[in-house]
Order: sequence, then structure tokens, then C-alpha cells
Amino acid sequence: MSKRVAIIGAGPSGLAQLRAFQSAVENGAEPVELVCYEKQGDWGGQWNYTWRSGLDENGEPVHSSMYRYLWSNGPKECLEFADYSFEEHFGKPIASYPPRAVLWDYIKGRVEKAGVRRHIRFNCPVRQVEYRETDGTFLVTVHDHDRDVIESEVFDHVVVASGHFSTPNTPQFEGFETFNGRILHAHDFRDALEFQGKSLLLVGSSYSAEDIGSQCYKYGVRSITTCYRTRPMGFDWPENWEEKPLLQRVDGNTAYFADGTSKQIDAIILCTGYLHHFPFLPDALRLQTNNRLWPLGLYRGVAWEANPKLFYLGMQDQWYTFNMFDAQAWYVRDIILGRITLPERATMTADSQAWREREETLDSDESMIRFQGDYVASLIEATDYPSFDIEGVNQTFLEWEKHKHEGIMTFRDKSYRSLMTGTQAPPHHTRWLDAMDDSLEAFLHAPSKRPATAEVDG
Ligand code: FAD
Ligand code: NAP
Repeated sequence: MSKRVAIIGAGPSGLAQLRAFQSAVENGAEPVELVCYEKQGDWGGQWNYTWRSGLDENGEPVHSSMYRYLWSNGPKECLEFADYSFEEHFGKPIASYPPRAVLWDYIKGRVEKAGVRRHIRFNCPVRQVEYRETDGTFLVTVHDHDRDVIESEVFDHVVVASGHFSTPNTPQFEGFETFNGRILHAHDFRDALEFQGKSLLLVGSSYSAEDIGSQCYKYGVRSITTCYRTRPMGFDWPENWEEKPLLQRVDGNTAYFADGTSKQIDAIILCTGYLHHFPFLPDALRLQTNNRLWPLGLYRGVAWEANPKLFYLGMQDQWYTFNMFDAQAWYVRDIILGRITLPERATMTADSQAWREREETLDSDESMIRFQGDYVASLIEATDYPSFDIEGVNQTFLEWEKHKHEGIMTFRDKSYRSLMTGTQAPPHHTRWLDAMDDSLEAFLHAPSKRPATAEVDG
């Protein structure tokens, strides 16, 4: 009887797992029985945008933290699939920083081509995973909202690909209860136009603070204040944007900061990150970590050392994304197919500890990028995932960082060379700051020029 594998989540990581198995079958492997449970009504994970916040149409916590007008925050050349290039998908070279809809289309293109949608059960949140010592299987319990039944099935392996940028980390600050304006977490932010003409305070100094602030600047916010706990972002902010040390308290509409200054504000967005949250897993199977490059307990970043029939994908903090999820998914596939043999637990733990010790020495963005690049390369070496120029990707990340420091509002106007096809991306037809329409159509097609006045003969 073929093995049964449950995959939890049909975001980029879960889809990579489906594609990895399909690719093995294409190359002659025996099929395994795959069931991918997806909480949402469609695939793509974070990239499947919803206007909803709070609860979804099934009463489940909304998964996606993405917002309207979100464009890739890194060059697409760094995340390109090695087995499915942007050029193959769009039939032409495209600019380097696509909006969300374009990346969603790209993610979907590969799995549509692979024909793996039939494995996915949509509107099916996993409620519980139980490991049964008696026969070494997992009992997976899900709520199928389409049929409104709760049911369980037995699997030999479980792959957790449920993401970790969905459950907000929401610190409390003095005076929040009586603040005279809106307070929300980045997870619930949807449309920058809501804050047009307002004075906005963003708590946090990472990607969400930088990008939500930039969106709001682009769409006409009156002023932006970002505040940091550890260190400022330090970009060349526009004149109506200032960075302050951490918020201490609010009183009415006045925010007070650690340097003794204060400011009048209309709304607060907590860009304070996310929690790894697995309400469906018992303690013995549950990864407990903060957002970092090397969470402990996962051999080669994927196999649950305490019970390596269980796997996790995409649980690291992410410089590399789509092609790292691929590298992980191919590696997990090969463990399940018996092509890779896992060592004893003590050896796995020692290996993880060595990666963790290196992680703890990282003191610059460049060292972190190289660390994750080395990790991706080490996985790819072990499987038949097409190898690609990791050092080229590292270099592209470093270029991106340089461009961000040259101009935080202009870096998205740059373009880079594909590490998969060698093609240089064209510049986008419109500067990011002027590109107000984030649709796929607007991105792919330059706005048509005003027709020249017709010459009339005679
Ligand atoms: P997710 O995309 O989060 O997918 C997880 C899936 O699991 C979801 O479909 C979810 O519905 C499902 N799920 C969760 N719980 C259950 C359950 N109990 N049962 C069944 N299904 C479940 N990366 C980039 O490379 N470039 C970017 O520009 C970029 N922008 C980002 C912007 C934001 C605001 C955020 C939050 C992230 C961004 N990322 C970006 C990182 C992003 O996390 C990855 O690109 C990618 O989406 C991670 O894929 P994943 O499949 O691991 O997780
Ligand atoms: P993050 O990178 O984990 O950063 C969390 C931030 O919150 C850090 O600055 C942290 O400060 C701060 N913080 C946490 N707890 C705090 C507290 N109690 N008080 C004050 N500050 C606190 O999370 P993120 O910025 O939301 O990014 C998550 C992911 O989304 C990333 O992968 C990112 O690339 C992605 N993203 C992408 C885009 C885009 O593509 N356009 C946009 C937004 C987000 P410390 O430094 O002090 O810990």
C-alpha cells in the first residue's frame, strides 16, 4: 500500500511539497497518496489576498496579512523557482518588483501546470494532529466547512506548511484603552487610503513598518512616525516621516516616546511581528520558536527530531523564500521516499546545534543572507532540485540592500538579472511611487499612449 502524506496548508510551501512529489512521479517514482488540507477557499497562502480581517467567511481567523497595493519587497530574481522561470510563466521578461497579484499568478502557474490541485481540500482547517504510538501513524482531524463535518483520516507522514506570519504579536502600551483613534496590527491593515490625510504611528522597525509606512506615504498620509525597540531602520525617509525610540504611552491623541518627545497622532499600527502558532499540534509535536534563521528541533530545518515522520516547511525567518521552500520540500520528499536516510536523533540534534551556533555569530545582513544561502545550497545538493547560482542570489540581495539605502522610495525602480535564465529584467514602465494601480494588467502592460491626432488626407 502506498504511503499517505498529509500536507497542512496550500501556500507556497505546501504547494512546493505537492510539486516535489509530482516531479518525482514524472521521473518514474511510485506515487504516494497526498492530501493537502487548506483552511482558505483558494491556494497561494499569504498571496491569496482578502479584503476581510478578523474572521473569514467560515468563522476562522483570516490567514493572509497582505494588503492592497502590496508589491514584492525584494527582487523577484531572489525568489524565482529553479524549475519554472518568470519568463516561462509570463512569456516575456518582466520588471523586478511585481505587485502581489503578479506573484500570485506566478505561484499558481507552476502548480496548474503540474496538475496538483486535485490533492487539495479547500475550506478544511486542520483541528488536531495526534501521533499514535501503537501503529506509528498520525490521526489528522479537520473541519470540512463545505460539508460542515468534522472528520479524521490516518497518515504515515504529516508536513506542516501553515506559515508563521499570520497570528499577530500584539504588545500593549499604557493608554491604549482610551486612545481616541484606531489601533490595529499590521495583519489587519488592508488599504492605505484609509489613512490619507492622517498622522500615523507605526510601532516596530522591520519590513512591515517600512512597507506599510511607504504605502501610506505613497497614498497621501499626512505624517508618519515609526518607533523602534532595538534600532532604527535608518533609511532616507521623506520629509514627513520621522523615526523615534520606542513608544512609552499614549494619552488621548498624544504619543510619548522614550527620548521624552511627544507627538499628536490619529492612528496606530502595530508592526510588531507574528507568533509561530500551531493550535492543532500537541506539545510533543509542536515547534516553539521566535522568528529566527535557525529554530531548534528541526533537522536540516525540516524534520522534527523528536519524531521525524513529521516535517515543517518555511518556519525560518526569510531572506530566501520560494526557492528555499522548494529546496526544503524536495528534501522532505526524498526522506519520505526513502532516498535520504536520517541519522540517529543525537546526530540530528548535534547538526542542528552546529547551525544554531553559527546563526548566533551572525552580525550583519550580509552574514545572514549567506547563512541562509548556504542552508539552501546544502539541501539542493542532496536532491534532484535544479541547482542554481546561490552566490548570484546572495549578490542580488546585497544589491537590493544597497539600492534600499540609496533610496527607500526608489529601490523598486531597479532591475536585476535572472539567476535561472540569465535574462536582464527590463525597467518597469512606471516609477513605483507613481504606479497607483497594482493590478496584473497594469503591471504587465505599459499605459497606452494618447493616440496621435489623425492626419486627414486631402
Ligand atoms: P503561507 O503563505 O502563510 O501559507 C500557509 C497556508 O496554510 C495558508 O494558505 C493557510 O490558509 C494555511 N493554513 C494555516 N493554518 C491551517 C490549518 N490549521 N489547516 C489548514 N490550512 C492552514 N515573501 C517574499 O518572498 N516576497 C514578498 O514580497 C513577501 N511579502 C510578504 C508580505 C507580508 C505582509 C507577509 C506577511 C509575508 C510576505 N512574504 C513575502 C513572506 C511569505 O510568508 C512567503 O512569501 C510565503 O507566503 C510563505 O509561504 P508558506 O506556504 O510557508 O506560508
Ligand atoms: P518581523 O520582521 O518579525 O519584525 C517585527 C518587528 O516588531 C521588529 O522590529 C521588532 O523589534 C518589533 N517588535 C516586536 N515586539 C515588539 C514590542 N513588544 N515592542 C516594540 N517592538 C516590537 O515582522 P514583520 O516586519 O511583520 O515582517 C514579517 C514578514 O512579512 C517578513 O518576512 C517580511 O518580509 C514580510 N513583509 C513583506 C512585505 C512586502 O513584501 N511588501 C511587507 C511587509 C512584511 P526588535 O527588532 O526590537 O525585535
